[in-house]
Amino acid sequence: MRIASVIVDVQTIQTNRTYDYVIPDKWLSHIQPGMRVIVPFGPRKIQGFVIQIKQDSEVKKLKEIVKPLDLVPVLNDELLSLGEWLTEKTLCFHMSAFQAMLPTAMKAKYDKKLRIVQDREDQYFYHLFGKREEIMWEHAEEKGLLPQLQKAVKSEHIEVIYLVKNRANKKMVQMIRTERSKSELGTAIEKLPSNAYRQKKVLEQFLLDSELRISRKALMEKTSASQAAIESLIKKKLLVIEKEEIYRDPYEDRHFKTTKALPLTEEQQSVIKPIIEKITDHVHETFLLYGVTGSGKTEIYLQSIEQVLAMNKEAIVLVPEISLTPQMVQRFKERFGKLVAVLHSGLSIGEKYDEWRKIQRKEAKVVVGARSAIFAPFENLGIIIIDEEHETSYKQEENPRYHARDIAIYRGKNHRCPVVLGSATPSLESFARAKKQVYQLLTLKKRMNNQDLPSVAIVDMREEMRAGNRSMFSRELAKQLELRLERKEQTVLFLNRRGHSSFIMCRDCGYVLQCPHCDISLTYHRYNNQMKCHYCGYETVVPSQCPECESKHIRYFGTGTQKVEEEIAKLFPTAKTIRMDVDTTGKKGAHETLLRRFQEEKADILLGTQMIAKGLDFPNITLVGVLSADTMLHLPDFRASEKTFQLLTQVSGRAGRHDLKGEVVIQTYTPEHYSIKLAGEQDFERFYEQEMLMRKIGAYPPFYFIALLTITHENLMKAVSITEKITAYMRRQLSKQAIILGPSASPIPRINNRYRYQCLIKYKKEEKLIPALQKVRNHYQKQSTTEGVTISIDVNPYMMM
Ligand code: ADP
Ligand code: ZN
Ligand code: ZN
Repeated sequence: MRIASVIVDVQTIQTNRTYDYVIPDKWLSHIQPGMRVIVPFGPRKIQGFVIQIKQDSEVKKLKEIVKPLDLVPVLNDELLSLGEWLTEKTLCFHMSAFQAMLPTAMKAKYDKKLRIVQDREDQYFYHLFGKREEIMWEHAEEKGLLPQLQKAVKSEHIEVIYLVKNRANKKMVQMIRTERSKSELGTAIEKLPSNAYRQKKVLEQFLLDSELRISRKALMEKTSASQAAIESLIKKKLLVIEKEEIYRDPYEDRHFKTTKALPLTEEQQSVIKPIIEKITDHVHETFLLYGVTGSGKTEIYLQSIEQVLAMNKEAIVLVPEISLTPQMVQRFKERFGKLVAVLHSGLSIGEKYDEWRKIQRKEAKVVVGARSAIFAPFENLGIIIIDEEHETSYKQEENPRYHARDIAIYRGKNHRCPVVLGSATPSLESFARAKKQVYQLLTLKKRMNNQDLPSVAIVDMREEMRAGNRSMFSRELAKQLELRLERKEQTVLFLNRRGHSSFIMCRDCGYVLQCPHCDISLTYHRYNNQMKCHYCGYETVVPSQCPECESKHIRYFGTGTQKVEEEIAKLFPTAKTIRMDVDTTGKKGAHETLLRRFQEEKADILLGTQMIAKGLDFPNITLVGVLSADTMLHLPDFRASEKTFQLLTQVSGRAGRHDLKGEVVIQTYTPEHYSIKLAGEQDFERFYEQEMLMRKIGAYPPFYFIALLTITHENLMKAVSITEKITAYMRRQLSKQAIILGPSASPIPRINNRYRYQCLIKYKKEEKLIPALQKVRNHYQKQSTTEGVTISIDVNPYMMM
């Protein structure tokens, strides 16, 4: 007897293990590890992943696998063991690790049906079922009949049928051809009534070319024939219809010209050499490619991949929020054409599935994608590239809480291939590792166009206030903008989006309320009008006047894009503005359309949030304005300065990328803050030194690793006391070197009437950390049904909320 060990799709701590099932004889030669199967589980049927096949089982009475869902394994051996690794490192369930590696289409959908077994005459069943044998569960639910049905199920009058729906649908098109000879067609045409000229036109197509095989849609377009006309020809057996599978191609209506490798500059040559060496030597190494925007990093990626392809291997390129940078996709498609698959969140479920299948079938050799593309099922990787490696979107904020960089290095070691992390503003963690030679540092200092970086003016908004200017545009920015309108050059205006919470600031002196114990700004909580520190729990009322200068202009801070747009209309009535924010880019493709309009110079000003910071590379942009550099600086997050620096540097990089020189105006209430000052000077290395100092003092990464536990409960006291217990337990488990903080309220202390408390662990090396966290999780998840506690554990968190 052959037995399959299966991970089932029930995500609880009790079911986070394999279950054994007998493989029925007819599937014996078919079922392999890495395939999805349907298995019975209690009264239900659910999806599972086969992990292992073995000869016997400890369990006596085994059920049989219902059926496989795949023809070939969807997870290869590497991904199966990566799943194990993820499960351990991020403390997620096996199932969620496997699901994260596959396109959504492969996640099962469950349905329930009710089937009548006896007593069809019963009035009440008749009312529900009518003449039908089966109805969908929702139908009964809508009618509010669940209690009665429950009884009927118990007495076996009705049976519940559980269905597993495979959403991995292939897209089919209807192709039309004929089996008739030319003379037969000719006769048929003559026989058609004179008013059926559309049908005639259709048949004529096949008379001209009897081998013609055309999609129904194309045929209709070509002949303007109606659905009915074609239908009638099929009925008369003059035409035949067949289904054919096609890939959904999100880029089908785009044309990509082809580009060739550019001759590299000397600097580029010295940077690419070690990468190529590792590729050809088949050796793993992690490189940090540090180079300002426009220094030719992408060209390095492209030419490294060329080498990989020449060796018949594959490449993964991660790009943040790729749907937002169509220009990036374009560069890869232009160089590698059909070998490129693209995976990002802007695609439909079906499109993603098709791109994934191109990879699985080895039709694509290069995948350009967002975070989850790191799991592309390649078997012969030659390089993994992460562009803008500092981006926090590489960290997944739900289970499994993995960071794509860690997966990249894991896979790079497995495949013995280089991993290239690229950035103009590397994360502190990565730069520190490069300095310690854990990663190999490669530097590009020069911009390709030999243009200097744009000149940056930092405007002190407090001065504007004092000078009586209450507008959100400083005099400098207004003047520069006016100039651009005159010269018909383009401007990008950047509004830093507020975080989940906001801070209180004095409009006169720029003073921001800080926690006396943590050196982190306090968070304003609108619902009780309090200021809070979420690191240590310190709390205070919102002051009515500034503790620093006694001004009364101290208030909650934040401006919306809409308000800015109105102000632009007032100040510059002739200017045409494109606004890009969550409101205007909600629809699929809206982002690209807006960008294209800007590229075609249909507007003078592009106004937006974070989403415009990346990838914009238009020659006519000569001015970048940052309306409020401070908003992100005061988020309650130890990475606030780093994020501010990165963002400011990145937006500044949008100006003057081509022949025209660029200028940048940064408006701020805290011009003396080092991350704003140094972003103005575009001096990453000095920023790095300064920020490292702060991190050392605060005992934060990269000096310490951190892990964050968030505990929620409906009852405030319960949330606090459980967090207290967990904190105490962790203190007992870990060494004296670990710093364990808590319990303290989360920056969002209540969501959906659940109170949220946190325990923050800072550590260097703690062998017992993962086992201790597992214990905590297991203990509380078993209780969760009875006690209503939820606990989330984030090892290496990027969101401190
Ligand atoms: P980065 O990725 O660092 O921002 P890019 O690779 O996009 O830089 O290069 C900036 C510009 O310079 C692009 O327009 C690119 O086509 C061009 N470029 C890059 N390398 C070369 C080269 N060796 N010769 C000529 N132009 C180049
Ligand atoms: Zn003040
Ligand atoms: Zn504090």
